This record gives sequence, structure tokens and C-alpha cells, in this order.
Amino acid sequence: MFDNLSDKLDKALHVLKGHGSITEVNVAETLKEVRRALLDADVNFKTAKEFTNTVKEKALGQNVLTTLQPGQLMVKLVKDELTELMGGETAGINLSGSPTVILMSGLQGSGKTTFSGKLANYLKTKKTKKPLLVACDIYRPAAINQLHVVGDQIGVEVYSEPENKNPVQIAQNAIAHAKQNGFNVVIVDTAGRLAIDEAMMTEIANVHKAINPQETLFVVDAMTGQDAVNTAKTFNERLNFDGVVLTKLDGDTRGGAAISIKSVVDKPIKFIGTGEKMDAIDVFHPARMADRILGMGDVVSLVERAQEQFDEEEARKLQKKIAKNQFGFDDFLNQIQQVKKMGSMKDLVGMIPGAGKALKDVDIDDDAFKGIEAIIHSMTPKERTEPAIINGSRKKRIAKGSGTSVQQVNQLLKQFDQMSKMMKMMQGGGGRKMMQAMGK
Ligand code: GDP
Repeated sequence: MFDNLSDKLDKALHVLKGHGSITEVNVAETLKEVRRALLDADVNFKTAKEFTNTVKEKALGQNVLTTLQPGQLMVKLVKDELTELMGGETAGINLSGSPTVILMSGLQGSGKTTFSGKLANYLKTKKTKKPLLVACDIYRPAAINQLHVVGDQIGVEVYSEPENKNPVQIAQNAIAHAKQNGFNVVIVDTAGRLAIDEAMMTEIANVHKAINPQETLFVVDAMTGQDAVNTAKTFNERLNFDGVVLTKLDGDTRGGAAISIKSVVDKPIKFIGTGEKMDAIDVFHPARMADRILGMGDVVSLVERAQEQFDEEEARKLQKKIAKNQFGFDDFLNQIQQVKKMGSMKDLVGMIPGAGKALKDVDIDDDAFKGIEAIIHSMTPKERTEPAIINGSRKKRIAKGSGTSVQQVNQLLKQFDQMSKMMKMMQGGGGRKMMQAMGK
């Protein structure tokens, strides 16, 4: 995410970090580089200029030149300003109303339908809501089908009237249906066009007026940079929407849209889409995003994701097994599945401070666990619970079955053995013993 911008900002600020003494000249030089980095990332010209001017004023106001760590202070100023620019505080979603009505707007291909599904799934699992999805695209039957496919995937009902050519009526009927059937959130997916046109604008404005939604979200493809910002402006003039959804942030985006959109339309980014799957949705946190852009990682999000996957019941069972020395390869496999559920490896690594940058060019793929899984799958149930019985001939068989080598099997067995010992020690409260073991 935003690799290029991160790199350039890092280089610009690095110059200052290395200087024992800092002059007004090299602060100006650094800020010029920062501005260039922002422009290269497709940040709006005016926004970039205001950004560097503000940072400069603050830097001079805080006497950055005479502080002990001027480089650090500059990084902090840039970080704070980036956060401010992206909206400052995290903006929530308004879930009032019964039912809450959420209207989706945006161009065709922006990811509206996918996001409607993601949002329904998010509200269902995180906020224990009962959402209803509504297909209001009267031009493309395929779009209605697509929403039905999405709905089936996440177990959410989809309301559609394929024969009806009046989107206002469909939306109103859907809300009535929701009221009668106990749905408390109605997500209306509307028709988009490839480019803005008057007919589309009038149509969505009519739907908007008729259903008076609690939330109107504008969905936009982050990869389109300045175009995204311009489209946002046009939609906002007509709909006065409440928030922005930036999709496709998992792609090779430059970051311009994320950084400029708030300052141009004065509406917060509320959610981001980071993949095609239904769980690739995140609440947008400006401060965390600024940290990521500056290569400082995003530990808070990482911990949150870990917590989401944490199953107390499972953890208790696991603890018992460890205490009884029964932790086997099946449990290990289970643990790997849990980690994988947290997201793509590249994404996770990007959240670790410093690691994203350090491992930028390393090809981290989600197949990292494949070898390990294959080896475990090639073991018999008995071997998984009693790894001690795995002798030479068994190792050969396992290596052959998993398409790996005996060395790889040995390596995994060794790691597993060390891990089991470590767990046992932690259980016994033997912190000291563990430290000793690690020192060995
Ligand atoms: P709509 O025309 O606005 O409803 O757009 P769709 O929901 O059909 O999305 C268009 C394409 O973008 C589809 O192929 C989606 O799978 C893809 N897409 C949507 N959101 C994301 C995202 O966050 N990341 C990625 N990589 N692809 C996405």
C-alpha cells in the first residue's frame, strides 16, 4: 500500500535525520522533497502546497532548528499533518433509524456491489445487525445476479425486482419489506455508469430524496487518483454524501486519493476495501494510515485483527492440551489456519513497524505455510499426536508424500519440538527456565 510514497517521504526525511545541525535551508529543501513526493503520489496540487506550508510554519513555530532531535520532530509534524489531512479522527457510521438505510453511490466498476456485500457482512458479524441488500440497478441484469451471488456467499437476503424499471419504487418496496420482516439495516446498491452522466445523477438523486438514507456512501476506486477526487466532487454536489469508501487499496495505489479527498470534498473516508473477498474491509483510521504511509507500521490494527480471531474457548482447550503434553501437529495446523485468517501475509507484515519497508522487495506470498501444511497432511493421525514415533523411514514417506525433502521434515520436527518445550515451560510459569532455554 502506497509503497512509492512511503519510500519517497522516507528519503526526504532521512536527509534531516542524519544532520547534526539543521538549517532553515535544509528544512526548506526537505519540505520541497516532501511536496514532490506528494505530487508524485497524485495528491492534489493545492493540497500538497498547503500541506508543506503548514508543516513549515509549525516547524518554525516549534523551533525545530534548535531541538535535540530535529529529524524526529519533523517526522512527527509530517505525521500529524498527514493525519489531519485525512480527516483527523476516525469517522463512524450512523446506524440510527429503524431500519437504518444506507445508500451506495459511485461509478460502475468502483467496487460498489462488492462493498455492499462487505458492509452487510461487517454489520452482521461485528455489530450483530440483520441487514438486507437491495439491487437497484435496473439496466444490467448481471448486476442484480452479482448481488445475489454476494448475498448467498455471506448469508444475507437480497431484495430485487427484476421486472421493475423504477429504482425509487424498488428501494421503497425494499424498505417496506425490511420493516415487515425484521431487517434493521437496508443497504441499497444503485446503478453506476462508466462515467458521470446527467441521467445517472438524476436517478440516484431521486432515490436519495425518496428514501432519505441515514448514510449515503460514495464508493471510489483508489487507483484512479485525481479522477477519484474529481468524481467525488461531482457526486457530493448532487448528493451531499456522508462519507467515502476507498476501494482497491490492496492494489498498487499511489495514495493521492486517500490524502486529498477529505480536503477537497470535506467528507471523511469511512471504510477502505483491501481485496476482493468479503472480509477485505477495514474502518479507516487516519492516524494509523499516516503511520503506515511513513513506514511506522500499524500495530494497533495488527493486534485488533489478532483479537478478532481469538477464540477463548479454543484457547482454553489448547492450554489444557499443552499442560497435559498433548499439543500435537493437528493443533499446530489449527494455529496456522488462525494466522491465515488474519489476512494476507504481505498485508500483515506491512503492519509491523519497520518490517514493511525492510521486506518490501521480499516476495512474501500466502504460500509461506504451504510446505508445512503439506508435511503435516502427509502424517498419519498417530504421527500427528505422537511425533516421537516418526523415525527415518516414516520421515522418508512423509517427505515423498508432501513433495518436500527429509531435511525439511526434520526441520519442522525440530521446530515443533522446540516450540512444545517452550510452551510447556510457559505453562509451568517457568519464565526463568524459558529464558534459559532460549539462551541455549
Ligand atoms: P461496481 O460496478 O461498482 O458494483 O463494482 P464491483 O463491485 O462489481 O467491482 C468491480 C471489480 O473490482 C470486481 O472485479 C471486484 O472484485 C473488484 N474489487 C472491488 N473491491 C475491491 C478491492 O477492495 N480490492 C480489489 N483488489 N478488487 C476489488
